[in-house]
Amino acid sequence: MPDPIEISPLEIEGLSDYHCHCDYSHDAVGTIEEYCEVGLMRGLAEICFTTHYDVNPRGLVGDTMMRVDGVSRPADDAALARYVDDVRKAHDQFFPRGLTVVLGIEFGWYRDCEEEAARIRRKFGFDYMLAGVHDIADICFCCTGRYETCFSRYSLENMVELYYRDVISAARSGLFNTIAHLDYYKKYGEKFYGPAIHEAHRPFLADVFSALIESGTAIEVNTAARRRGFDSYYPRNEIINAARRAGVDIAHIGSDAHAPDQVGYDFDLAYVFAPNTAGGGDDD
Ligand SMILES: [Zn+2]
Ligand SMILES: [Zn+2]
Repeated sequence: MPDPIEISPLEIEGLSDYHCHCDYSHDAVGTIEEYCEVGLMRGLAEICFTTHYDVNPRGLVGDTMMRVDGVSRPADDAALARYVDDVRKAHDQFFPRGLTVVLGIEFGWYRDCEEEAARIRRKFGFDYMLAGVHDIADICFCCTGRYETCFSRYSLENMVELYYRDVISAARSGLFNTIAHLDYYKKYGEKFYGPAIHEAHRPFLADVFSALIESGTAIEVNTAARRRGFDSYYPRNEIINAARRAGVDIAHIGSDAHAPDQVGYDFDLAYVFAPNTAGGGDDD
């Protein structure tokens, strides 16, 4: 648990953080309760847990793991059931203290995963499903050990085209509320391909926005990019603003917290991009 003195409240009260991991995610630390305590200290009204659930239908990936009681184990229904139970219990515990706890999941998108996404949505009744595109042709582009293998197969234009093709498929599936961290390929892609990566989305945006609008799928403003040293978010401001002009729903801000002290990170700035996330209704 972070030192309470280091957690400062946000200037804007009543915001919602709709992208938080917890120690059910193999790459995160901190219990659900610890994230909720920080949410209260920040003055959030809502916190949505979105642990990773990655099941490659071709069974090719080794990181399809969750963590339960501190032990890594395969992501399966038994692990999900424990997670769901703990998030629901946290809501019962924290709602009387002023924090709504929402049950979400970050579903790792792979080609042909629609059936599994539909199945777990039906079975567990998630309030919020994020689709996270983390792989291109089954190779992770956002893990330190693998991004070079992934990127070395493609020109910048090919890579970005394949990424947005997956985003479009995820949106058109109609199974997700929101696409997580659009333009996430820049996380390591900037280093690999250079600054041209920040303009590589332009030929594809019109098709991406059509798929989002027609399927009623939103995008998020993900502040983790700022933790990584970028000067804007996932996606960058240019894309957020173009999305708004096109009529894409910008549903939530999310910290993508992988540790409790990252809850609500940079929300005092980010909330202007998604003002509908402020508590108390419209901002006019
Ligand atoms: Zn993600
Ligand atoms: Zn995430």
